Amino acid sequence: MDTYKRIGISWLHNQAFCEYQLFLKWVLKAPNLESIEVIEGDKSHGTQRVTTNEKAAKSGILPIKDILTSVKESTIVGTKFYRTDFRVECDIMIGEIDEIFISKSKILIVDYKPLPRTGIPFLDDKRQTIAYAFCFHREYLNITTPIFCEIKDENTGNQIWLHEYTVADDADILDATYRSLDIVNQKREPIDTKNPNKCRGCRLNSECPRRKDI
Ligand code: SF4
Repeated sequence: MDTYKRIGISWLHNQAFCEYQLFLKWVLKAPNLESIEVIEGDKSHGTQRVTTNEKAAKSGILPIKDILTSVKESTIVGTKFYRTDFRVECDIMIGEIDEIFISKSKILIVDYKPLPRTGIPFLDDKRQTIAYAFCFHREYLNITTPIFCEIKDENTGNQIWLHEYTVADDADILDATYRSLDIVNQKREPIDTKNPNKCRGCRLNSECPRRKDI
């Protein structure tokens, strides 16, 4: 049995949608899995951890901690650092941020999502975006610069939602993270959705003994 020490941040999406999906993916290893997971959560015997700073050093880009310092100390107004597909990782989660923007006055973490019909982002999309900020903050503990989370429409690039991350967000993120870890480590029984519409749209429904739409 695999033992997971960290979750992929995208797992929070599965956990909110249907916990049984998490179980199917990472415990039963549903054979029909598409390679949609950018990051697999770490297993205890998994691949060697490559830190953001090591990656940055190899690619010739300044480590984030140096960028944070140089941006802070710079006297040039508007000094900024911008990067796409930025990996963030801490002791309990790992993920890839679509875009990160760092300036003297703020850090902006951007996630691109489809525009919901209502125009209001789903709770799990918001949670996932806040989790990037949480993880970034946990990795760079000495950060005092305000961190903002933004969801943008993946088609137009327009802002859908903006939120300033604070430690008040942590309880929800920690609860969802440890719940996910307990499910994939088989310490907690996953709760399957009771909504047949979700099952209808679930990409694992052909593998699922608990689907409700049949
Ligand atoms: S088919 Fe339904 S119960 Fe099964 S994993 Fe998908 S959403 Fe959950």
